[in-house]
Amino acid sequence: MRVFDDIVVGSGVSGLTMSLLLAMNGRKVLLLEKNPRIGGSLSRFSKKGAPFDTGFHFTGGLQKGGLLYDMLSVLGIRDAIEPVFLSEDNANSFFIESENRTYNVPYGIQRMKDQLKEYFPKESAAIDGYFDRVLDVCEKTPSMNLHSLTANQSHINEDFIALEEVLNGLTDNRSLRAVLCGFAMCYGVRPDEISFANHSRICIGLYESVARVREGGTAFENAFKKKLTEYGVDIACNTHIVELADIHGKKVGRFILSSGEEVTAQNCIFTIHPKEILKVLPQEYLSRAFQDRVSSFESSTGFFSLFALLDEGQEEPNFGETIVSILPHTDITRQLDPPSQGPSALVVIKSREDGGDKKQNVICALEPSSHEHVQQWKDTTVGKRPQAYLDYKQQRIDAMTERIFSVFPNYKGHLHVVDSASVLTFRDYLNNYDGSAYGVKQKLGQYNLRGRLPLHNLHAAGQSALLPGVIGAMMSSFIVARALIPEEQYNGFLRKNVCS
Ligand SMILES: Cc1cc2nc3c(=O)[nH]c(=O)nc-3n(C[C@H](O)[C@H](O)[C@H](O)COP(=O)(O)OP(=O)(O)OC[C@H]3O[C@@H](n4cnc5c(N)ncnc54)[C@H](O)[C@@H]3O)c2cc1C
Repeated sequence: MRVFDDIVVGSGVSGLTMSLLLAMNGRKVLLLEKNPRIGGSLSRFSKKGAPFDTGFHFTGGLQKGGLLYDMLSVLGIRDAIEPVFLSEDNANSFFIESENRTYNVPYGIQRMKDQLKEYFPKESAAIDGYFDRVLDVCEKTPSMNLHSLTANQSHINEDFIALEEVLNGLTDNRSLRAVLCGFAMCYGVRPDEISFANHSRICIGLYESVARVREGGTAFENAFKKKLTEYGVDIACNTHIVELADIHGKKVGRFILSSGEEVTAQNCIFTIHPKEILKVLPQEYLSRAFQDRVSSFESSTGFFSLFALLDEGQEEPNFGETIVSILPHTDITRQLDPPSQGPSALVVIKSREDGGDKKQNVICALEPSSHEHVQQWKDTTVGKRPQAYLDYKQQRIDAMTERIFSVFPNYKGHLHVVDSASVLTFRDYLNNYDGSAYGVKQKLGQYNLRGRLPLHNLHAAGQSALLPGVIGAMMSSFIVARALIPEEQYNGFLRKNVCS
């Protein structure tokens, strides 16, 4: 029987981060991945010679000293991740259809404040108040600074106040509130349900800088793969845990794998959806309260995605990396609630990609969606879905392209949709629990499943444990690793690598 120090379950960005952190600290690690390949939501696919992103399009934190920059430095893969920063002046554009007006939002907090004050001259105090409070939350959150090296993750007041409540207290201006809530698409929770603290922690990265990454998630996958090999991590794809055995004193002694192999390890860290973890844990060791807590977690928003190519010369100035959010009106709560009737938000992400022998104009458009939209086909699998499902997809493609043409009329006749993905596609292709984009909904006052589980050598990390997005998923692993690596060693390791 092979003996490991740690088993890591799931090879999305959090599992990859966790495996590498442990291996760099001298531990013998086995990484298990249910899919045939590693990467989870980082994965890309190719159509018509162009690469398309699935679950990773852009990120904050890649500027020098940013949180992602620091985490990549610690992991020794920063040089392999090449940021393509969006234009500082209009990284994000919010087009509010009911007002027929576009708000270009730059990055850099001072620049953002100045631009917003230009759009909303009477709201100067509200704008200052908003950003002061965001910065205050992030300062009070130790995990947002790898230099602070403290294990304290206690809640602060803003963890118990909804984003909506804070914004309503600051301003009556609906358009300003919509623009400030617009980043909700990056975590998929309505403003009345997310805490102001978590909204701030997720958005701060995007307020400091917005970048795509050359070669997208593939660059992360390749960089991790190289380092994991260098540090001797065993990677087993097409493999998951089928049984936990030899449980004594609330510790698991033996892990039985789907391959038939049995292994032992001191710890096992799950970076998968909490409800998937629940399936693996033997019920007799779980309290009713624990089971109810995990079962009560709701899903964050999912997306219906459209993948397209645009002919050259259709955009002035030249087609380049930009993000345009089309908001039908100023009520973000309704737009992010997929089951509610009426138009929802639509995010259009544009990028120039290497497509074989030439550059291609790639467009990926995302519209909030939920499993309720595809409930009737939930038991079907990729390639075997009925005509009614294909019709549903075509209707959504048609409606989305119409909306894109209403904002970019010169794309008509030049936009070629090459593929699309429903919540079911994401569920099956990315092997995530329910097709939602960001794991469990980060609800106000919710205690996520993070760290030690009822069986004491099992732990939970991953996007649902802390915060969604590549940064939140990686941060979760940095936090949980503290419990597994001796404190002094871990602090020394971070201190040594974060500055390099
Ligand atoms: C459409 C979409 C767009 C997004 N856009 C962005 C974006 O632009 N920027 C951003 O930062 N974030 C974005 N996200 C969110 C981001 O992708 C996630 O927050 C992050 O990648 C999650 O990483 P993870 O490791 O926690 O989970 P995952 O990437 O979901 O990885 C989990 C892994 O575990 C595996 N697995 C599942 N069950 C088992 C099991 N029982 N045993 C073994 N393995 C198992 C899965 O196959 C998967 O590989 C987007 C997500 C989606 C879906």
